[in-house]
Amino acid sequence: MIAPITAADSERDQRRAAAALGAVGLRAGDRLVLSAVASPELVAVVLGALRTGIVPVVLDPGLPGAERAALVEDADPGLDVGGDPGRLLGDREADLADVPLARPMHYTSGTTGRRKGVWSGVLAEDDARALAAEEIDLWGFGPHDRHLVLSPLHHSAPLRFAVHTLLAGGEVLLPGPFDAGRAAEVISTQRPTTTFCVPTHLQRLLAHGNVDWSSFRRLVHAGAPCPEPLKRAVLAALPDGSVWEFYGSTEAQFTVCSPDDWLAHPGSVGRARPGRRLDADEGGQLWCAVPRWARFEYWRAPEKTAAAWRGDRVTVGDLGRVDDDGTVWLDGRREDLVISGGVNVYPAEVEAVLDAHPDVVESAVFGLPDEEWGQRVVAAYVGTADPDELARWARERLSPAKRPKRLHRLGELPRTSTGKVRRLDLPDVLGAAGG
Ligand code: ATP
Repeated sequence: MIAPITAADSERDQRRAAAALGAVGLRAGDRLVLSAVASPELVAVVLGALRTGIVPVVLDPGLPGAERAALVEDADPGLDVGGDPGRLLGDREADLADVPLARPMHYTSGTTGRRKGVWSGVLAEDDARALAAEEIDLWGFGPHDRHLVLSPLHHSAPLRFAVHTLLAGGEVLLPGPFDAGRAAEVISTQRPTTTFCVPTHLQRLLAHGNVDWSSFRRLVHAGAPCPEPLKRAVLAALPDGSVWEFYGSTEAQFTVCSPDDWLAHPGSVGRARPGRRLDADEGGQLWCAVPRWARFEYWRAPEKTAAAWRGDRVTVGDLGRVDDDGTVWLDGRREDLVISGGVNVYPAEVEAVLDAHPDVVESAVFGLPDEEWGQRVVAAYVGTADPDELARWARERLSPAKRPKRLHRLGELPRTSTGKVRRLDLPDVLGAAGG
């Protein structure tokens, strides 16, 4: 059994961390680098920092040395505690604000290229309160909650869910790096009420079987498209009303999708969160008006910040559409768009067709340079489907420009540490596999 982190124990450690950070001279707005595996100490130091306005920069502890060094140099921290946050927990305790006065600064996962640092500075108290209240109200966090952490805390959503559960008086379970067997056991025996995950976790847990899902009141997934058959399987396995989704990024949160929203519009990502408004421009790029306290900039990259904002509306480069009733549909990332013979091909649309084949577990579609067409559509997939049979399946369902010109069967797809497919790596992976 894993001992849950309780709000009361964590609160004491947060005060101890805040005292130590003050003693070494860190002030509001300074950065604190941490690169430890998830632990109660890491969570307490992050919260202790946030509640004094210090900005924790939580890095993947598995980063290769040179990559870590580049991010640390970029973050320009007042202190780098590396893998041992526990050393900040001394005897002295400091006062804390009741809500985080800063947002952790995260680097995006780099799915589409270089990682970008996201920065919100130190929040005014009213904004800090609004930010915390929004998250806690949206998911209904309270002392009744036991939140299970399935994803690494150096990503924004998993850390946000853990932090807000504790702020609302609930408990947090940290089972360590994701392993379907271990997660299934923890879910079945320690009865969490909430979790956040990406679709890959759901796919692995369902494939593992032996999961007693009955304790969940909210299982929330996001971060990558959830294939429709997987979503339906999850909805069938979990208690009624418990499977929620949102569309957001490291930078900002845009939509929320209840089970009823999804069943009414399968494949959508729900509707704008309260206080947000979404629309798509002529190029199909999604823009979202966000409240003042949800603003952000890219760290020391004013040109990226300027390109992302138009007044109070922001884009993170996703393509999609918004129906008259406010339902939001994603077509994929601008960077992933394949233009073949002048036709825009959205990988997500082609992947949805391939994923619907009974012998395909998952697929990833991308473009390769083509002398005649500019780019040609290529697909990699995991599953037992025969490539010729899958090509026939695609031919019956997709117009010619959208049909993959090659279909490569792989043992697994290349992923970021959050479980997202790295399309950028696929040409190399296929090259190495003789594709
Ligand atoms: P970068 O390449 O900019 O570093 P990233 O993919 O690594 O980006 P994240 O912030 O980790 O950055 O991921 C955010 C992206 O994940 C969104 O912009 C969107 O494309 C995708 N996404 C998030 N939620 C969903 C969802 N529910 N369904 C489909 N895609 C989603």
